[in-house]
Amino acid sequence: MFSFFKFRLQTEAIQLAEGSIPCKFCNISPKNGFKIVWEDDTFVAFEDIRPAAMHHLQITPKKHIESVKALNKFDVDMVRSMEELGNRILDDLGVPTAMRKLGFHIPPFNSVNHLHMHVQGLPYRSFVRGFKYPIVNGGGSHQKGFSWFAEAGQTIRILERGGSVGIFPS
Ligand SMILES: [Zn+2]
Ligand SMILES: [Zn+2]
Repeated sequence: MFSFFKFRLQTEAIQLAEGSIPCKFCNISPKNGFKIVWEDDTFVAFEDIRPAAMHHLQITPKKHIESVKALNKFDVDMVRSMEELGNRILDDLGVPTAMRKLGFHIPPFNSVNHLHMHVQGLPYRSFVRGFKYPIVNGGGSHQKGFSWFAEAGQTIRILERGGSVGIFPS
């Protein structure tokens, strides 16, 4: 009885603490140290603070969405728009198609709990950095194999079929 009560108190304390931490990506502004390269009412694109590749940007929806795991088929258009925007930015930077990587980290391997698409122009600055963004093709009916990174196209195809993106093959 006592331990149950204690457990509940701890849970509530944790929820309170989490609720009081402002979301970093809900507060993207130059004042907060972000280098914004593009924005409209829906999305904002900014430079990654620790670039892993020659070009490394992030695109986030301004609306708070937890992660790629929270997306479903109704989000396909949004992901498509993010991918298009990412490719337009890479066009401007002169990055050839074969040197582009766009995609999402899958929880718990994401850094910030606000959906962000990594937009990269390769090469990677080091082999170790590149290891964080593996694209693993799926076998059989799977669009994606076991990995902690979901490429934009894989994400779109999984969502279109009514699936959801996870670490395991989907
Ligand atoms: Zn947020
Ligand atoms: Zn990430």
